[in-house]
Amino acid sequence: MTNPADTPVDDPHTRRILDFVARGQARSRSELASALGVAASTVGLRVQALLDAGVLEEAGAGTSRGGRRPRVLRIAGDGIVLSADLGGRHARIGRHDLSGGLLHSETIAIDVADGPEATLERVSEVFERLLAETRVHAIGVSLPGPVDVATGAVDQPSRMPGWPGFRVGEHLAERHGVPVVVDNDANLAALGEHRRQLGHTQHSITVKAGTAIGSGIIVDGHIHRGATAAAGDITHTRIDGSGDIPCSCGNTGCLETVASGASLVRQMRERGNTDVRTTADVLTLARDADPLATTLVRTAGTHLGQALSGVVNFFNPHALFLTGSMSASEPFIAAVRSRVYEACHPLATQRLRIEAAATGADAILHGAARLALEGMEIPVATA
Ligand SMILES: [Zn+2]
Repeated sequence: MTNPADTPVDDPHTRRILDFVARGQARSRSELASALGVAASTVGLRVQALLDAGVLEEAGAGTSRGGRRPRVLRIAGDGIVLSADLGGRHARIGRHDLSGGLLHSETIAIDVADGPEATLERVSEVFERLLAETRVHAIGVSLPGPVDVATGAVDQPSRMPGWPGFRVGEHLAERHGVPVVVDNDANLAALGEHRRQLGHTQHSITVKAGTAIGSGIIVDGHIHRGATAAAGDITHTRIDGSGDIPCSCGNTGCLETVASGASLVRQMRERGNTDVRTTADVLTLARDADPLATTLVRTAGTHLGQALSGVVNFFNPHALFLTGSMSASEPFIAAVRSRVYEACHPLATQRLRIEAAATGADAILHGAARLALEGMEIPVATA
């Protein structure tokens, strides 16, 4: 007697089956059963569900004469997952295969200040074109602010007027008839980088250090969002000796005021470099060995390392990944690393990796696609 039950890909066996097949580490039901160390029936039910859902396909069927058909499993080639990373002025949209691999991305101009309906309309136009080309299984969307994942809405009004309370996930799901998941950029960057580097276990923190600073936390392979979606918001950590520069939050001396790209631009301009306008300008000067820019970038890294050392001592992660434009600067990363190693208990840093994110600028798209894939409902008949 079997009862069908909706099982998300988050089901550990289903997730591992997809991973093994995507990486070519197992190509048949029997190889999967031995690789996972589970009964053939456990694999069989889940593989059938993935075949029915069009996520896996059988290759080579029909090529054998007389004997048993070779039933080689592979990720279905004709379905995709879409991702979108909404920033203030641009949106990046990605197409991914069903193992999460990024096939193609494009960037369009948006303005989040236009409000959710007008902004999402622009993104939906691209989705519609891609939906017309092939079967889309799910969509993952990144928003540049704290997101209530239960409603798929932005939680904080300050930088996104008109967005709070607007259910982005529901809006897009209704429009396109496809499941949509929504989360914030820092969480998705963390998920994308963690899956690439560490898979489905272990703990990591991914810090996005660009014009602003944010971070995402992965605990035992899962995004840790906290009680009110505020987990990882290190930007308002108070830094000793940072002076009393007012922060956007109303306090003074926050990490944001001394270590963000925006703060470096401000400091360069205050010291007479009035042609410096963006974080990229500061980084270019630092790369060209401009003494002030280099000092500021290193000091920013030290401040960030200081803020992170408390987190590392407390949380004891396996890895600290750095993404965002500042992470392209080796002196910045070196300064973070040396401050963390210096300020932490040796046991907390014994196995700690601190490095630039391997997914680079695509971390958020990878994370959005992963979240979408892992949230897909695959009906598995369970005994
Ligand atoms: Zn602040």
